[in-house]
Amino acid sequence: MQTKYIFVTGGVLSSLGKGITSSSIATLLKHSGFEVSILKIDPYINLDPGTMSPLEHGEVFVTQDGAETDLDIGHYERFLNKSLEKKNNFTTGQVYLSVIEKERRGEYLGKTIQIVPHIVDEIKQRIRSVGEGSDFLVVELGGTVGDMEGMPYLEAIREMKHELGNERVLSIHVTLVPYIKTAEELKTKPTQHSVQELRRIGISPQIIVARSEKPLSKELKRKIALSCDVADDSVIVAEDAKSIYQVPLNFLQEDILTPIARNFALPPFKPNMQEWDLLVKKIISPKESVTIGFVGKYLSLKESYKSLTEALVHAGANLDAKVNIKWIDSENLEKTNLHELEELDGILIPGGFGERGVEGKILAIQYARENKIPFLGICLGMQLSIIEFARNVLGIKEATSSEFDPKTSHPFIYMIEDFIDQEGQKQIRTHTSPLGGTMRLGEYECELKEETYIQKAYGNAKIIKERHRHRYEANPKYRSMLEEKGLIISGESNGLIETLELSDHPWFVAVQFHPEFTSRLQSPNPVILEFVKQSLKH
Ligand code: GLN
Repeated sequence: MQTKYIFVTGGVLSSLGKGITSSSIATLLKHSGFEVSILKIDPYINLDPGTMSPLEHGEVFVTQDGAETDLDIGHYERFLNKSLEKKNNFTTGQVYLSVIEKERRGEYLGKTIQIVPHIVDEIKQRIRSVGEGSDFLVVELGGTVGDMEGMPYLEAIREMKHELGNERVLSIHVTLVPYIKTAEELKTKPTQHSVQELRRIGISPQIIVARSEKPLSKELKRKIALSCDVADDSVIVAEDAKSIYQVPLNFLQEDILTPIARNFALPPFKPNMQEWDLLVKKIISPKESVTIGFVGKYLSLKESYKSLTEALVHAGANLDAKVNIKWIDSENLEKTNLHELEELDGILIPGGFGERGVEGKILAIQYARENKIPFLGICLGMQLSIIEFARNVLGIKEATSSEFDPKTSHPFIYMIEDFIDQEGQKQIRTHTSPLGGTMRLGEYECELKEETYIQKAYGNAKIIKERHRHRYEANPKYRSMLEEKGLIISGESNGLIETLELSDHPWFVAVQFHPEFTSRLQSPNPVILEFVKQSLKH
């Protein structure tokens, strides 16, 4: 079947859950047996979110092929249970860069370069190349209709509809139907205005997804249908859900597939959501519960740990347990308030950058090690586990990372000059390289040691593949010193230290990679799953 395109735009305000809407629609199509891919367009000018502050942008999600992408790509992977690539997310910066590069190469034959047609053509060409080979491509346009940055994309959507016809292009508009307390009423005016704005640009959406905190009456749905000129069955209500994974099921109940099939002139189809339904039931009413201490830094913006908190949800769903997160701000953690860590079933140290909050994290690691609490350290969490061990077990008080003290005499964590990247190419990393360009990014193989906790977690696999995003590495110079005192190097990649554990601890595991990037609802990440399992036993 020729690729069909579903464009998802948003109106009224941001944070309406366009990402979850797009993921949910893609999930229903996938479970109906179609080949589905998905694309996030970010209209900002940055080339990628790699150098943006987590406070500004939330998490940077890393794809298998090493791209630093928008966190919505994470949602897509978690919902679709499929690895996406660099091309599944692009920004205005990337579009302009390639047009300008082409212009420099003389590929426009001396023409004046303009938004229409050149920028818009580049956008259309990128969209179509991502759609190649799929039955459906769901395209989520970031931002809200009316944003200046979004204009060329809306023009591209309009043109694609014109070129490919009604049966290959569908527009879905996500809006808000706010509840006004004083009037005790749900208001449809913002939705009408937002659709009017879209129409002014030449796009008439065929489906309206109305976000609302309350159910919408039949009359109200009809009113929206009439004023926005969509069929009566094409106003889909998206009430606040208990879990994001419930949204595809809610959409199914709202019968979203009927207008989708009709618009594409396809015979009616039905997804198989049995397994999904079961997992959602376990998220909503789990049998057991467990409390994990999450010792991190950007706690004011939990979005920056999205993949990890979702991975804990996946583990919980698969173990029929509620995973409660106790957020512990590492900057406030001191020797005098370690009682905050009492009564935790497990302690988790996520990845991070910079020196702030590091000492608090080291205290939490020491606490987990000495009190034999199940522990998982991720990326910076692994690096700090080594530093903690060096300081408190080996007695080398100056042990640190050259990230925090470039001149340290004890760089247990250091910057290596060169390494072999995913394509087998030698890469040079130096302290002076610009931010963003020097990280070990994306998927690398890791060889596991026999009979270790981590190997058991991965079903006795010899080699696993996980994704990275860091500049520094564990220094092999100290390896034998650490091993002599009971630290086990349990995983390696081309001579780089990837995972460790402790011999005299019920379950203390730390990993240099980010296991959370490969966790999906239907296939939870093995080491995070095992960590939650061990915490349940604690
Ligand atoms: N700051 C550390 C590094 O760059 C760890 C990064 C991380 O935790 N993602 O190596």
